[in-house]
Amino acid sequence: MFFGFFGRRSAAGADRTLLLELAARMPLLAGLNASERARLAGLAAVFARKKAFSGAAGLTVTPAMVATVSLQMALPVMSLGKEALDGWQEIVLYPSAFVVREHWMEPGGLVHEGASVLIGQARLDGPVVLSWPDVASSTGRDGWNVVIHEIAHKLDMLNGDANGFPPLHRGMSREQWSHDWAAAYADFQRRVEQGDEDGWLDPYAAESPAEFFAVLSEAFFESPQGLAEDYPAVYRQLVSFYRQDTLARLSALE
Ligand SMILES: [Zn+2]
Repeated sequence: MFFGFFGRRSAAGADRTLLLELAARMPLLAGLNASERARLAGLAAVFARKKAFSGAAGLTVTPAMVATVSLQMALPVMSLGKEALDGWQEIVLYPSAFVVREHWMEPGGLVHEGASVLIGQARLDGPVVLSWPDVASSTGRDGWNVVIHEIAHKLDMLNGDANGFPPLHRGMSREQWSHDWAAAYADFQRRVEQGDEDGWLDPYAAESPAEFFAVLSEAFFESPQGLAEDYPAVYRQLVSFYRQDTLARLSALE
């Protein structure tokens, strides 16, 4: 169920020239060669056209906003194809972090209700909701990217609730995936409890296997060094899953 927002529908598209211009300036995309960047821009143009972008809480969505979201959305799926993001339509941008009212049930039936302040949210069968200033500041390479985070949740949701176990490609082993992710997750939870995490990975990743997958996906695309060193098996799983070797691509820039 989605909360009521009264978004303003925007017809603002983003043309290919704008997409290529922005792509050339985005540090996040610096590791792509010219033909990869053109392919990414082509995919981003499809999302800019096909997804319904709207502004909430008075935000007017501009073509530059649509392009900035679409380019970052396209990065994780550039080797998977646009179909990877089928099945949902809407992208809602807020002018700041936004408040979501939620209720949840304890085992035993007690229902809680509360409100959370979020910068991004992906709903099963629903929209991706993003805080525009956080989208705008995600384009660097600091390991933090709200668009990639929510898109990772959307990919995870292709086989039901987000649980850190998205549908795998032919040839990938479900057993190996479970084994590698469970081992890394247990290790990171232990490190967070002991306060000895070394900083490349946001402790929020220890929240749940779904968040672990989404936060590691951010690191994978922005600054994969620590991930590849600390959790090499998970790094390799992400290479197979996203069909991109980000460490090879980004270390060429150092
Ligand atoms: Zn999340």
